[in-house]
Amino acid sequence: MGTTRQFTCKHLLQELTDYLDGSLDAEVRTQLEAHLAKCPNCWVVCDTTKKTIEVFKGMDPYPLPDDVKGRLMKALQKRCHQAGQS
Ligand SMILES: [Zn+2]
Repeated sequence: MGTTRQFTCKHLLQELTDYLDGSLDAEVRTQLEAHLAKCPNCWVVCDTTKKTIEVFKGMDPYPLPDDVKGRLMKALQKRCHQAGQS
């Protein structure tokens, strides 16, 4: 496990929908969950996205629209910058 690359907020955003779908690789999922455990910003976004997806799934059979996904990603990227992460 010594060669594990750093899992950043950006990675999390890229993998989040697959993670919530349950279609993410076990290895990546482990990294994502480790990141979630130490990054409150991502935890909030994950939780919000999960709820959003549940609402969408309850309403119709379509996956999360790209529009919504894009807005969530922009919101988190902004948060991460504001938190002073480099
Ligand atoms: Zn994060």
